[in-house]
Amino acid sequence: NGFLKLGLAPELIRAVEDLGFTQPTAVQDQAIPLAMDSAEEGASSRFIDLMVSSQTGSGKTAAFLLPVLHTLLKLQAQAEEQERAEQQRLADEAAARGEAPPKRKRRNPTDPRNFKAAAPGALILCPTRELAQQVAHDAIDLVKHCKGLRIANVVGGMPYQMQIARLQNANLVVATPGRLLDLQRSQQIKLDQVKFLVVDEADRMLDLGFADDLAEINQLTIERHQTMMFSATFAPRIQQLAARVMRQPQKVQI
Ligand code: AMP
Repeated sequence: NGFLKLGLAPELIRAVEDLGFTQPTAVQDQAIPLAMDSAEEGASSRFIDLMVSSQTGSGKTAAFLLPVLHTLLKLQAQAEEQERAEQQRLADEAAARGEAPPKRKRRNPTDPRNFKAAAPGALILCPTRELAQQVAHDAIDLVKHCKGLRIANVVGGMPYQMQIARLQNANLVVATPGRLLDLQRSQQIKLDQVKFLVVDEADRMLDLGFADDLAEINQLTIERHQTMMFSATFAPRIQQLAARVMRQPQKVQI
């Protein structure tokens, strides 16, 4: 399988195989390794921001979903390892005192007192409800073998309650800007944990008048580690938007 050389997690390779993809498309071949790579910056390294021009039908959705899901899986594994080490430390301390290991507290997620605002690690912005639903659908296909990675869709014209229930534990949110900001303002979702931001179909985003919403979401996720922007063209207004939301983006032109 041609996806093996891209260095993606085995869970994602299995999902790609289940979908019958045998070779990465051109945009996947170029964008995925760059998105997973990191650039040296002083003593540390950082992810590379990407600006990609590609058309619908090029496989662009998997080109941004796969690296984002790969990195979310890695972060999740690190967090679980830290949690395990902490439990072990508490158990060792208890044993040294001759006590039984402490029980882990379990929260009842249906108890309203346990309600927490959702805090996704990745955010994909789409200009229309139809596109957001398609992207969320593709994401669900790609995480089928990933334990504990959850996807939620936030779009206008759907009942709030249903979206909020699904949002609670979501790691990756696929959203249209207007509804996302509604939920942010009513404190149903926090955006300060977002590490990866993708703007899909940036040109249509501007056509539909989302420039101010994008600027607001840019500020709300300013601590993020990586931004990717996909657009049919690199027209000057797209370049201006890119300059506002990305740091020295690497360009990929298909
Ligand atoms: P997109 O450009 O993301 O809208 O993708 C267009 C179509 O190509 C979708 O139906 C995908 O499921 C399909 N697709 C994406 N990547 C591949 C691939 N590597 N091999 C075959 N089909 C693919």
